[in-house]
Amino acid sequence: MFFKKKYSYNVLDPKHVKDPEAAFIIAIRREIEKLNDVKIPSMSWGYDTNNGPATWCKDYPVANGKRQSPIDIVPNSVSQEPSLQNNPLRVTYKPEPDVDISNTGASVKVQMTQQSELTGGPLKGKYRLEQFHLHWGSENSKGSEHTVNGKMYPAELHLVHWNADKYSSFGEAADKSDGLAVLGYFVKIGKEHKGFKQITDHLKEITKTGSHSPSPGKFDPSCLVKDDISRYWTYEGSLTTPPLYESVTWIVFDDVMEISQEQLNGLRSIKNCENCCIQNNYRPPVPICDRSVKASFSGASKLK
Ligand SMILES: [Zn+2]
Repeated sequence: MFFKKKYSYNVLDPKHVKDPEAAFIIAIRREIEKLNDVKIPSMSWGYDTNNGPATWCKDYPVANGKRQSPIDIVPNSVSQEPSLQNNPLRVTYKPEPDVDISNTGASVKVQMTQQSELTGGPLKGKYRLEQFHLHWGSENSKGSEHTVNGKMYPAELHLVHWNADKYSSFGEAADKSDGLAVLGYFVKIGKEHKGFKQITDHLKEITKTGSHSPSPGKFDPSCLVKDDISRYWTYEGSLTTPPLYESVTWIVFDDVMEISQEQLNGLRSIKNCENCCIQNNYRPPVPICDRSVKASFSGASKLK
């Protein structure tokens, strides 16, 4: 493909692009769009210097809002919320007969079709699992979006749910203040994750952006959730990618998901242009502003 990484700002007006080669490509793109009366889908945002998190506020002013995510979690300044213990978080996930695994250009996304549900904890009503995806670094010292006392993990898993009691679809719920709930697990390197292997085994089939695994097969999302889900932090936040809607009740576990180095390397090998692997696809923590983080547990965090 000729849209190399440096042309990822292809939504700009070619007149304002200084690099003549890039301006030429953008102009051609515009001509194709005009002639065919179509809009070529493009990524106006990414994780590079020219389109990364620090630039998102230009197109998405809410990036500077007061309910943004991720944040740094400081366990010592978090208060325990007794109502969370009295109303345990409950996950009732169903196996997917033929799960869809895709390369979105920003991550690996696994789309759900069954009625897998999340209830309890800070949530009112039923939230349905829509998809899950991950964020990861180019090296093991970075990659998670949330941090604990400033510490980053090599990756972070996000299980995205929408409020199915109040809204009729993920799309309708996505920008509502009580629309979404995301479960977050920090990911560390260790033993191979057998359940997650059903996903990582297919990464070689989705190295190109926009591709879907042709033969994904069955997958049970409950393999991603631990038996004990009683220890977590929760706060009101946002999507961590544009459009950054302030619609997410975050539930970040005081726990880690363990995957092998090989599995993480698999994630690092998928691409968003011919020679660019998707890496460092994380937004760094943003200010907590006047929000508070609640813990479902008392005492020290298990995360060191
Ligand atoms: Zn995410």
